[in-house]
Amino acid sequence: MDASTRTPTQDFIGKEARYGARNYKPVPVVVDHARDCFVWDVEGRRYIDMMGAYSAVSHGHLHPRLVAAAQRQLERVAVTSRAYHGTTLGPFLEKLCRVAGFDRALPMNTGAEAVETAIKCARRWGHRVKGIPDGRAEILVARGNFHGRTTTIVGFSSEPEYRAGFGPFAPGFVHFDFGDMASVRAATGPNTCAVLVEPIQGEAGVIVPPAGFFAQLRDWCDRNNVLLIIDEVQAGLGRTGRWFAFEHEGIRPDGLVLGKALGGGLLPVSAFLADDAVMAVFDPGSHGSTFGGNALAAAVALEALQVIEDEHLVERSAALGEHLLRRLRDVANEARPLIRAVRGRGLWVGVDVDPAHATARELVERLAARGVLSKETHETVIRFAPPLTISRELIDEAVDIFRQTVVEKRDELRAAPRLEQRRRDGERLAA
Ligand SMILES: *Cc1c(COP(=O)(O)O)cnc(C)c1O
Repeated sequence: MDASTRTPTQDFIGKEARYGARNYKPVPVVVDHARDCFVWDVEGRRYIDMMGAYSAVSHGHLHPRLVAAAQRQLERVAVTSRAYHGTTLGPFLEKLCRVAGFDRALPMNTGAEAVETAIKCARRWGHRVKGIPDGRAEILVARGNFHGRTTTIVGFSSEPEYRAGFGPFAPGFVHFDFGDMASVRAATGPNTCAVLVEPIQGEAGVIVPPAGFFAQLRDWCDRNNVLLIIDEVQAGLGRTGRWFAFEHEGIRPDGLVLGKALGGGLLPVSAFLADDAVMAVFDPGSHGSTFGGNALAAAVALEALQVIEDEHLVERSAALGEHLLRRLRDVANEARPLIRAVRGRGLWVGVDVDPAHATARELVERLAARGVLSKETHETVIRFAPPLTISRELIDEAVDIFRQTVVEKRDELRAAPRLEQRRRDGERLAA
């Protein structure tokens, strides 16, 4: 195309396509700037952000208190490495431990690193505390899991796309079916050190476990001297209408993995939390990260936790999540058979599209064209995870646009057989 007729959108997408590795296929929106629940593209179009960067932007974009905390810290010091102490790490860890109810926290950067930390901790605990021979510990993981993209983690993914050609993979992971205790029992052996599991499977399509599963799992882990480690990188910090999704299940895990929203939408901040008896397996030199717990990240994460409390974001998520779910279920009923189901907890919803009628991707792109950002997961699920700061009015606006989008598609589907008939009639007349 002639350079003079290219839009800024095409220019920016073109550069990413030309120079970037092709490991993503983004929705064709070029974000220029954002504030709270709104995003503007380079053409000046406004979108309602119903995706929240996969729940990393739970506080809304550029929350003023978080930006101020970052700016204050940027005038002091940002990165020193863990070779020295600082003034923000201790207060952050104290707040995090109080909020989550654990003795200790180990800060990392990305979610995958915190999961890796949990895996190391579980294996070493298995060897040193449980007495499993070194190098033989097994961790149970759910089919359909998503825990990140390192080679160890994709090694136990059930997604062929995440694994193909990346082996050899680390041994020591055994699968069970999410929500199925019989399969957990069958997978457990004498060398099982831990179960690593999401409380709700996000990437799999916002799959909520059957009631009682986690209580039984907790009991099974206790009876078999197995650690229960819950990955709340996406579910934690209010997303599901509780501080932590495990609270819905009336249990407490032995290890907790956090990330995404912990960075307040500004920085990558993650952590692994556990009580003394488990965390004690880490001694100086056994694990680390150059950037983990850096002064800037700790300042922002501390303020991020404080903002969740001060702005009652957990309560908002619970109340507004119910509203969102109810409204989306009404739309689903209206748009049958295009929409098969609507699942969710708090401000975290998966809308199941019938692949016989449309792909989730097609609807996501149509929604974006009408000014609402969402994201598909697999071919069949549209995922909504708006900032927890969103208002009821804005949810209604987004759902109204979603309704127009799916009703339009439904009407096209209804018209399609008639078009087909007319074409055949036309052919008959012509013959
Ligand atoms: C996003 C996510 C991760 C990985 O986090 P990254 O920051 O992308 O490494 C791990 N576990 C769960 C449940 C997630 O949703």
